Amino acid sequence: MLAAVCHGKKDLRIDTLADRALVAGEVRVAVAYGGICGSDLHYYHRGAVGDFAVREPLVLGHEISGTVIETGPGVAGLEAGAKAALDPSRPCLRCRYCRAGRSNLCVDMWFLGSAGRMPHSQGGFSQHLVLREDQVIPVPRDANLQHVAMAEPLSVALHAVNQAGALNGRRVIVTGSGPIGLLIARAARNAGALEVICTDVEDAPLALAVRSMGATGTLNVRRDPRGLARFAADEAGFDVAFEASGSPEALASLFGVLRRGGRLVQVGMLPPGTAPVPVNLLQSREFEFVGAFRANGEFRHAVELILRGDVGVAPVLSATYPLARAVEALEQAGDRSKVIKVQLAISEAAA
Ligand code: ZN
Repeated sequence: MLAAVCHGKKDLRIDTLADRALVAGEVRVAVAYGGICGSDLHYYHRGAVGDFAVREPLVLGHEISGTVIETGPGVAGLEAGAKAALDPSRPCLRCRYCRAGRSNLCVDMWFLGSAGRMPHSQGGFSQHLVLREDQVIPVPRDANLQHVAMAEPLSVALHAVNQAGALNGRRVIVTGSGPIGLLIARAARNAGALEVICTDVEDAPLALAVRSMGATGTLNVRRDPRGLARFAADEAGFDVAFEASGSPEALASLFGVLRRGGRLVQVGMLPPGTAPVPVNLLQSREFEFVGAFRANGEFRHAVELILRGDVGVAPVLSATYPLARAVEALEQAGDRSKVIKVQLAISEAAA
């Protein structure tokens, strides 16, 4: 079977990999679709994500859907041919965080397509993939597997919204209108936010934010670098801010537009190292500054919302490439003026 393997910076190959036998509790799936995430782009363009460098060949990909091929001993409720949402998180289920219901903080996590541990946790841009049975969530036969492959990014957005607390009647700003920022906008409106302002440095995603993702206003911070100033007065300030761009400048700017006692949720991944923030404002205005990392229990919730159409993910999907053209797809996915989410069609089942 074929897989898209990152061998280092700008070195992505379609390699032939061998299937391995299943052990108890495991399921083999044919991966149908795989969305390209910012972290996949970082591995491809820089050979690293944050502080995690590629030290051995790494199959990329973690936003996937597929079809069950084979089940190992002891697996119940999953049959060959079943379509499924595929959760990229495999927490240990034993550590103090897993037992406390915060498995996204697991100290022994296997997350698909991550160089965060050695040996690396191989990813999902692979025609066949072995998962633990709890990672395989069956969906109806008529489910759209391209939409289902958006469950992981939606789960990240839902987790960020959960980290923000109640949003009913709140005024919200989201910096960064990539897939996660746009899905946060949608989820925040669904959670009752009165106003959601989205920012970006490109016009195309901002137009989409208003047209399809529930944003009530936008700001292009490249064309209008002082545009945020109109929210600087306390009565114009935001109750909640989501930093979803990974830009240190965007992060610092949010401290100037949050109302007193407001909450800032950091969901974007910033460059390695430190980022300067005005801590005196945090102190004197009692801001709450919280992190949001991947997703916890939100994956199944995301699958449900997609299946019911409560969160329409179709507007975010820009293009689909066959696995064989993964390099082209990764190059295209980096052009934010043209695309939001690019997916790979991975196995024959997806064709
Ligand atoms: Zn754990």
